Amino acid sequence: SKPAPMDLTAAVPEIVRMVQKKAEVHGIRLQRSMPDTPVNVLADAARLQQVLLNLLNNAMDAVIQRHGTEGGSISVKLSAEDNGTAMIEIGDNGTGIAPDNIKKVFTPFFTTKPVGQGTGLGLSVCYGIIRQMDGKMEVSSTVDQGTEFSIMLPVIEEKR
Ligand code: ADP
Ligand code: MG
Repeated sequence: SKPAPMDLTAAVPEIVRMVQKKAEVHGIRLQRSMPDTPVNVLADAARLQQVLLNLLNNAMDAVIQRHGTEGGSISVKLSAEDNGTAMIEIGDNGTGIAPDNIKKVFTPFFTTKPVGQGTGLGLSVCYGIIRQMDGKMEVSSTVDQGTEFSIMLPVIEEKR
């Protein structure tokens, strides 16, 4: 697949819906916030989906680990910044990431999950995909409070 113009206000909710059932089963509150006007970027739909599903699955792992099946919460917020950047923020109230680990999360094979449950490849692959789209990916986290991953992509003028 190839990069094509897409409206993130349509694409992001579609991807979030894919994890709705899993979130419900684990008692996780899944909130989204989208602007009313289109936010168009050049992106490969399948790869963007892969990235967001990875982040959402990591977030669900972290909130389940901290809260079990009651009290987990994940938010997905899309916004268009004044400087022509689309920002997707995925926040959770899960375990958080220790300061010693935060600089390693984008490194291939870094995982804190039990053998067989995590390959540690998710975030390094996500990072590469977003870089290929001329984007950036950042993380901020507080142990026992939660984590927020941000993806920034250049906005294009209009969807053609
Ligand atoms: P994996 O999920 O296979 O462990 P990832 O590359 O997706 O590999 O993530 C690497 C590690 O980063 C995870 O094992 C976990 O320690 C940490 N991590 C990623 N996302 C989160 C999150 N939302 N909350 C807490 N820790 C996270
Ligand atoms: Mg993962």
